[in-house]
Amino acid sequence: MAISPIKTALKLNDDIVETKPSQSKSILFALILGLLGAVLNSFPIELAYNITLIIGNLAFIIAAAYLRPVLTLLSALICVSPLLLIWGHPFGFLTFGLEALFVAFLRGRGWYLPTADFLYWLIIGMPLTAAIIWFTNADAQDYLLFSFFKQSINAIFYTSLAVILIFIFSDKLSGWVKSQQPPLVKNLKQYLHYILWIMSAFFVVGVCLLLSRSLNEIQDQQFEDKLNISSQYLARIIENHVEEHKKAIAQIANQLSIIEPSNYDDALFKVHELYPGFLTMLVADQDATVVTSSPRALMESLPPTGFTLADRSYFIQAFFHQSLYVSPVFLGRGFGSDPIVAISAPIYGQNSKNPTGIVEGSLNLNMFEKVNRDAMNDREIDLVLTDENDNVIYAESSLALTTLTKFDFSFEKSNLQHKLIMIDTYGANKKRYLYRQIELSNGWKVFALIEHGQILQLIEQQYLTIFMSLSVIFIFVILLANQFSSTLSRPLAFVLNELAHGDGKKSYKPIPYDAPTEFLSLYDKLQQSQTALLRQQVVLEEKVEKRTKELNEANKNLKELANKDSLTGLYNRRYLENKFSELQAILSRNNASMVVAMLDLDHFKKLNDEYGHLIGDNCLTYVGELMKCKFDRRSDIVARFGGEEFIIVVQHDEQNGVLKKLDELRLEIAHHCFPYDAHHFIGITISIGAIAANAALSENIGDWIKLADEQLYQAKDNGRNQLSIKQLT
Ligand code: GH3
Ligand code: MG
Ligand code: MG
Repeated sequence: MAISPIKTALKLNDDIVETKPSQSKSILFALILGLLGAVLNSFPIELAYNITLIIGNLAFIIAAAYLRPVLTLLSALICVSPLLLIWGHPFGFLTFGLEALFVAFLRGRGWYLPTADFLYWLIIGMPLTAAIIWFTNADAQDYLLFSFFKQSINAIFYTSLAVILIFIFSDKLSGWVKSQQPPLVKNLKQYLHYILWIMSAFFVVGVCLLLSRSLNEIQDQQFEDKLNISSQYLARIIENHVEEHKKAIAQIANQLSIIEPSNYDDALFKVHELYPGFLTMLVADQDATVVTSSPRALMESLPPTGFTLADRSYFIQAFFHQSLYVSPVFLGRGFGSDPIVAISAPIYGQNSKNPTGIVEGSLNLNMFEKVNRDAMNDREIDLVLTDENDNVIYAESSLALTTLTKFDFSFEKSNLQHKLIMIDTYGANKKRYLYRQIELSNGWKVFALIEHGQILQLIEQQYLTIFMSLSVIFIFVILLANQFSSTLSRPLAFVLNELAHGDGKKSYKPIPYDAPTEFLSLYDKLQQSQTALLRQQVVLEEKVEKRTKELNEANKNLKELANKDSLTGLYNRRYLENKFSELQAILSRNNASMVVAMLDLDHFKKLNDEYGHLIGDNCLTYVGELMKCKFDRRSDIVARFGGEEFIIVVQHDEQNGVLKKLDELRLEIAHHCFPYDAHHFIGITISIGAIAANAALSENIGDWIKLADEQLYQAKDNGRNQLSIKQLT
């Protein structure tokens, strides 16, 4: 009792020693996988603008093959952490964390990893991604379908890659970490589905993504070139446009300086005709009062008391600083409300060093729309022109920006190669654009933009193609695997059936299907060995039968030997005791009598001493043989009791004359002569003590022998060579 608690304690101790390292090894395994995944995820493969392929998640898929859900989740959370920085939002933790839990849980229930993962994306991943995008992203509609494909194709890719890696390194991995997941035992068909699907999914997705990536790189280059060319081209056109009108103002200022003020009207009109880019043109005198304008009708709308430009910067700069001046962009005041740039220059009187007035042209900036349309027939590119204060001068109408308000945009947070800008177009509805920005010499900026959604559409088509190809391949894989597995399993089942029912006598049927040659030779070998086995079995059975017979014989002999005395061949004392009990029981049940006689050779020691033991042995053998002859009924017991003493137990009745037979035995022995040598003969005598009584007297042989021995003693005492009987009634 005191030992068992010690035993239990030892056992517990053993358990702790067993489990602790394997548990900590599993945690270590989860951490290592998580870190490897995190490193891989830190370098996402950029497929196109802001669209990345992440493969680090394969680490937690590998974890799911070996670890329980909690440790797989741990691995996944570490894996996903770099995406927080790259994507700028934490939703990866949610979608991929759930993916890890789900896949590890189903793997624990005996599911294959890709099936579990596909199911996850179908019922949780895709709806969850859709919901996240819907609630967090401005242009959700653009992204929704795309995200569906993107995420699931990405998942198919890293899951297949993970499974392939597990295949390759499974021996090493299972040697290192003790799997907490159950083994996957499946039939041939399912196994082939699984393998073929993984292989084809990996290679199809891999090749498609590679192709799509290089396609996108080409497209990328095209977009880049387009942006560069169009922004530069436009910048040049705009600069030329402004420059040309500056020159026109400088020219008219020179012209007005050498003619009479009465001719200003005509000259101005002619120049305006040449430069329709000016919305209005006007001339002011040294008091800043407008003296003439083009179109002429403008003058009529001005107050008759005179219209002064004294507060206008284009007057002040041109008149007082005597320079060709280009104003910032502003909305026309009094002469219309379009965004305009005023270009002004001083007019000098003939031979006068001081200005006598200014000439001004209001350059209509809405003209850029025409310039843009004429310059580029490319609808993919949207243009925005801003002034030196970043106010929108001109923006393509599709962008719906208000002119002369700040061009409001932000850069998308991203560590990737391509930066996108987000433009506030419709209030809260931000759109993302790929862009190129060029600053003009006057501080204006040209933005050439390509909407990100357009690029997404192109890639979406590619992903749709991948998805479709995968679906077609999936159907083919199933058909192929079914065909393949039946090619293997049908002949195998046939062979097994044939061999199971083959008894070696009938001839084996040939395989009725197309089977690989290895199967045919295997079947042949199995037939041969079954036939040989059956033959061997028959030989063995015969052998066993013979051996069993021999063994039984030997056993019987051994039993006899154990029961018999080796010298005389009579039963020994042990056998006597057993047989006595049997006989006594039968006789006492039948109320019959029994005789127990004890026989002892007279002066046998002396005989031994005088003639030697060999002679003595011969005498004993002779007496034994004689006793067997005399008492030869099945129930008679004749035994050597020890040395030269014998016991006879027989049924006693008046008819069988047992007592008479005993005396005949004594007489016969006494009359027998043993030859000693050619001249001498030896004679022996025997004394017999017998008890005859009802068998019920005693069941103990000792009691009977004691009584017989008393009679033997009497016989010896009375001179030997005689029979002494006691009969109890
Ligand atoms: P008694 O007439 O009083 O019986 O005298 P005895 O000499 O026969 O009696 P005792 O008991 O003194 O001697 C028995 C002898 O029997 C002694 C031994 O030498 C002999 N003897 C016992 N077993 C064997 C045997 O297996 N072979 C031979 N040759 N002699 C035996
Ligand atoms: Mg004796
Ligand atoms: Mg004797």
